[in-house]
Amino acid sequence: CGIVGYIGFREAYPIIIKGLKRLEYRGYDSAGLILFDGSDLKLSKTKGKVSDLEDISKEITLNGNIGMGHTRWATHGVPNDVNSHPHLSNSGNLAIIHNGIIENYAPLKKELIKRGYIFHSDTDTEVLVNLIEEVQKKDNLKLGKAVQVALNQVVGAYAICVFDKKNPDEIIVARLGSPLAIGVGENEFFIASDASPFIEYTSNAIYLEDEEMAVVGLNKPLKIRKIKDDSLVDPYVQELKM
Ligand code: GLU
Repeated sequence: CGIVGYIGFREAYPIIIKGLKRLEYRGYDSAGLILFDGSDLKLSKTKGKVSDLEDISKEITLNGNIGMGHTRWATHGVPNDVNSHPHLSNSGNLAIIHNGIIENYAPLKKELIKRGYIFHSDTDTEVLVNLIEEVQKKDNLKLGKAVQVALNQVVGAYAICVFDKKNPDEIIVARLGSPLAIGVGENEFFIASDASPFIEYTSNAIYLEDEEMAVVGLNKPLKIRKIKDDSLVDPYVQELKM
């Protein structure tokens, strides 16, 4: 399983597809991606290989300078098109990709259903994206804060990327147990499970530690925080050897 994200000035689609192929060695059963083209989210996902994702994606115009892609190793819900990531929140504004497991998804899901949320997939991940939406709405929080509050209610493991189409200049990332690297370019950022998807674009990488999250956005400093106590962490940028 793997994750890839991009925000910057390049077309995101080829970066994501190529990146997912480089992460194929990690194993997976489904693949998907989402892009924001300036007005709408464009979603494409399928059970099968990254090459299958490329085939079905030929039918749609997939452009945009911000996006994220995922290869899934199913833990909750069989491998099929619907359970593939990305998943959207009920409003359709939030998109998430997730590697890992939300162990307490069942009680969280029950509570969200009580509050009127509808679920389309059998995944634990769809519970997390709707929990983030619920937190965001209830207290009118910025996305980064909402992700942090939601993650503090979660038991499990994750590398996640979350994106809000209402605020399309940032991707929120977080990790606990699953790897997550941020490639730092000039006016662009890459996100991936390891550096292989972005090594050709930048040799500067930040590896998130467990229980850290970051707001990865254009025209703002990269902020890394501890999910639990909200303390700021100095970004440690490593120079990758080509
Ligand atoms: N638990 C999630 C699912 O089953 C993510 C699995 C993964 O790590 O790819 O959809």
